[in-house]
Amino acid sequence: MYLEKLRLDGRVAVVTGGGQGIGAACARALGEAGATVMVAELLPERIEASVDSLRRLQIDAHGITLDVTKSKDVDRVADEIVGRHGRVDILVNNAGVAISDVRAEDTSDEHWRLHMDVNIDGLFWCCRAFGRKMLARGGGSIVNIGSMSGLIVNKPQPQSFYNASKAAVHQLTRSLAAEWGQRGVRVNAVAPTYIETPLTSFGIKENPDMYKVWLEMTPMGRVGQPEEVASVVHFLASDAASLMTGAIVSVDGGYTCW
Ligand code: NDP
Repeated sequence: MYLEKLRLDGRVAVVTGGGQGIGAACARALGEAGATVMVAELLPERIEASVDSLRRLQIDAHGITLDVTKSKDVDRVADEIVGRHGRVDILVNNAGVAISDVRAEDTSDEHWRLHMDVNIDGLFWCCRAFGRKMLARGGGSIVNIGSMSGLIVNKPQPQSFYNASKAAVHQLTRSLAAEWGQRGVRVNAVAPTYIETPLTSFGIKENPDMYKVWLEMTPMGRVGQPEEVASVVHFLASDAASLMTGAIVSVDGGYTCW
């Protein structure tokens, strides 16, 4: 009974930015559980590589080019996916950017806008477009990739634009959960610590002093792997989390304890 709740057979899942890092791991986790997975990404070659590797695992995977910052394209892609697959049950809002280590006083308009455009505007366009489809069918599960940076201020690198964008993701998650709670659509978020992906290579690979601080500030004394976020996303997306909505689930090796 309990393990069955984690199965996603017959469900259609969309993962934005699913071509690498945490998104690729989420696509695999949902696909292994039986979902048909749509990898929605910026770069066609990255989509192709991700879909190929999922298909090699016998996952029913498909790719679709999407820039989440273009709201009209997001609406069109939502229509296309429902037109082709008949439904959308799960949305993982993973696409995000973080060009960190920039002080507030040095942050350009463009730098601020990029982070807001992708991390919060784009995430809302996707919640709205796919949420409409879910509400029309009376069910669905949205998992937003927030961040511990929406809960604490990272050290030592300054990144006010990123922290603010992720705090907004958390509050949007709770707001949508409250609006849609009685209409069958659950909306949750995960708040990961540093995860080893291209996004964090500026610290993990290129800056040993910074990396040392990251580890010292983490009770578990290590960074995470994309799969360790994906398994929590899978749980939240599934019926095993049927009573959960509006939750911001820390996946942070204890970082927010200190
Ligand atoms: P990556 O940079 O490895 O992957 C993000 C993916 O999203 C890339 O393929 C990227 O494409 C794509 N993307 C960027 N902009 C858009 C867009 N406008 N439309 C569609 N796709 C886009 O990052 P991670 O896997 O590390 O991060 C995934 C999510 O997890 C992000 O939201 C991030 O903020 C969050 N997160 C990450 C943590 C970490 O330590 N890694 C910690 C906490 C949260 P491209 O490379 O071409 O830009």
